[in-house]
Amino acid sequence: MSSGKDSIEIAGQHVYPGESKRIEIPVARLYTDIDVPIPVHVIRGKKPGPHLFVSAAVHGDELNGIEIVRRLIQSKVKLSKGTLILVPMVNVYGVLNQSRYLPDRRDLNRSFPGSAKGSLAGRVADIFLDQIVRHCQYGIDLHTGAIHRSNLPQIRANLKDEETSALAEVFGVPVLLNSDLRDGSLRQAAVELGTRILLYEAGQALRFDEISIRAGVRGVMNVMSVLGMTRRRVRVGQVQPYVANNSAWVRATASGIVRSLKHLGDQVVKGDVLAEIGSPFGDVLDTVKAPRDGIIIGKQNIPLVQEGDAMFHVAYFSEPDEAIVENIETMTEDLSPEDGLPYSGETV
Ligand SMILES: [Zn+2]
Repeated sequence: MSSGKDSIEIAGQHVYPGESKRIEIPVARLYTDIDVPIPVHVIRGKKPGPHLFVSAAVHGDELNGIEIVRRLIQSKVKLSKGTLILVPMVNVYGVLNQSRYLPDRRDLNRSFPGSAKGSLAGRVADIFLDQIVRHCQYGIDLHTGAIHRSNLPQIRANLKDEETSALAEVFGVPVLLNSDLRDGSLRQAAVELGTRILLYEAGQALRFDEISIRAGVRGVMNVMSVLGMTRRRVRVGQVQPYVANNSAWVRATASGIVRSLKHLGDQVVKGDVLAEIGSPFGDVLDTVKAPRDGIIIGKQNIPLVQEGDAMFHVAYFSEPDEAIVENIETMTEDLSPEDGLPYSGETV
């Protein structure tokens, strides 16, 4: 809640224009009688402007976003106007346990808007909305694939909203997925509060993926540039993103050992064999085929499947385009170590 002239109040602490502050938001204590607060880093420009939050680890085992936020803090980004609220770990309990969930086994991203008297997940959701999201017109929520699943760098957002769509485009990743809001997600709750929000998905749980991290840092910086918060120029390289209107998981048609023939970022046409499923003795039991033309945006990494297991996440485009694979290569080249993005401790 805001109070006082031009100040932003988080957990009882005021942050004034031109100030940076580290704040801890108390949530519930551990039963070991120790507080586990949500750490927040606030950076304010001297002039008034947009308020943007960047959150990570809503799922506690999704670590790329923690590193993206860490590099943004380390880069000592200077705001010409507006406010940047960085939250490296929303689900601190999950991070401690290296788990997607909260200790009550609830998924925080299905527990929004939550309530002050609800479950632990509901309380964290309520506090996060009240202390962070409510201050912001814009938000970027950083995620990765689930455990043993990798995601191609992608933005999921309500692309029907013109301004959200423009921000998604400037983020600079090859695929934009126009996705419906999931019940109980941070994104849904934020949109209901009038906050425009991008969900960045890249890499896999419990791992750092350098390309995903660098694409995320650059994306956040690009969004800040177009919002006029920094004077840094937008760097999108040659990437012209492709918009997918839907996506679906292709599932295992048999149980066995997987030989993948297609990989993350591959463009596929209907009928392409994505993988062979074989027996331990070498027989091919079945092949998994692409049901439609699309691009592989997510992939299961364990080479063992039971019938029905999700194997390939394919995004479908209204008009398939040959240039998509080229775009992914361009993005990877753009993010080479010479691209001027901060590594740890480097300033920009
Ligand atoms: Zn997630």
